[in-house]
Amino acid sequence: NLSLKLDKAFQTLKGQGRITEINVATTVKEIRKALIDADVNYKVAKEVTDDIREKAMGQNVLTSISPGQLLTKITNDELTHLMGGESVDITIEGNPAIILIAGLQGSGKTTFSGKLASYLKKQGRQVLLTACDIYRPAAIKQLQVLGEQIGVEVYAEPENKDAVKIAKAAIAHAKKNNHRIVIVDTAGRLAVDEEMMNEIARLKEALAPSETLFVVDSMTGQDAVNTAKAFNDRLNFDGVVLTKLDGDTRGGAALSIRRVVEKPIKFISMGEKMEALDRFYPDRMASRILGMGDVVTLVEKAQQAFDEDEAKRLNAKLRKNQFDFNDFLTQLEQVKKMGNIKDLMSMIPGVGKAMKGVDVDDNAFKPVEAIIRSMTTKERENPDVINGSRKERIAKGSGTSIQQVNQLLKQFGDMRKMMKTMNKMGGGKRALSALN
Ligand code: GDP
Ligand code: MG
Repeated sequence: NLSLKLDKAFQTLKGQGRITEINVATTVKEIRKALIDADVNYKVAKEVTDDIREKAMGQNVLTSISPGQLLTKITNDELTHLMGGESVDITIEGNPAIILIAGLQGSGKTTFSGKLASYLKKQGRQVLLTACDIYRPAAIKQLQVLGEQIGVEVYAEPENKDAVKIAKAAIAHAKKNNHRIVIVDTAGRLAVDEEMMNEIARLKEALAPSETLFVVDSMTGQDAVNTAKAFNDRLNFDGVVLTKLDGDTRGGAALSIRRVVEKPIKFISMGEKMEALDRFYPDRMASRILGMGDVVTLVEKAQQAFDEDEAKRLNAKLRKNQFDFNDFLTQLEQVKKMGNIKDLMSMIPGVGKAMKGVDVDDNAFKPVEAIIRSMTTKERENPDVINGSRKERIAKGSGTSIQQVNQLLKQFGDMRKMMKTMNKMGGGKRALSALN
């Protein structure tokens, strides 16, 4: 029934007021929990959610977005911002350009070295892999196997026990053979120790790489942050590689690490296949951490479609009871821009439930739109002037019946009356938010 459908539509279109202490508190708690579940350090999670609360308080909620959804969007933006906003590339400079790989044993350095070589090779670059893990003979073999698999040469000196000398020889070899990039895979330890730090620091000093990447296992949670800090204090590395993101980890380590060491995360590694390497995009990671991709998309869609000023103007009109058919038509167009009406409405908290079993097909609004379009501007502004002969003209023009025109006019009149009552009750806003 059309009148019921319109009721629902109006409910959707009404603003839900401002974000208040009450609706913020619950959502912020949920967001903090989501962050901690995603491995974000407790202190970082608290700082972030405190910031979010500050930002959210008193913000105007766009028509058709609930405070909870807006908060989620603010959170998503904040996380994206905290992780650097933009994706950052590695620096490839020098002839050859040198990329030094550092990190604990088992973090995924050797696997990543292979992946990076394959990634750069696909860009048409001449790459040389260098095995500088001098402590485990198996490590050299591992790199050679990967090199073979991806068709990249591996430089190794199994008898040599000086990592700096091996790396320098590899660079000389690269110059002679036209390799433009040398990736230096190094040895790690199971935990941060002086000897390892000295060796990697010595390598960095001797080779002056254009990029030093710190590789860290994202499954190690809080330890990842401490390790990153220890390596950065000593090495002042250029970027972070997060590995093993193919598991259940939601990536909270990315946020904590970024916040603690203030270095960009550049790659994420997701699996043992040589292709499983991606550049790091802060916005995607933010959605992953929140695990609320759908909500974020919905809110973005709504924000694109709704011009904020327009929404403000309409809210003011609603409050002053000046909402007319012109405004209604604008709102209808906005809703149409956002896609399927039923899907949209059902995503809105409170409305979703009420919509169960109500069949709103997108065509339901067609006759309504046709009727309004058949009205003159004067008629839209002041429907009271629509008399019998005007109704006949409108029905004819819109391909509907006089009955349908009457129904819409009555519906619209009822709505205006309701608005009036609500405004008298002391602020339509309060009454409106009670609907949701
Ligand atoms: P390294 O000691 O730092 O050189 O670490 P390795 O590259 O040898 O990796 C240690 C282990 O983790 C190996 O068994 C790898 O196959 C595995 N590994 C490395 N990267 C990933 C990844 O992105 N996902 C998964 N699931 N396993 C990985
Ligand atoms: Mg290794």
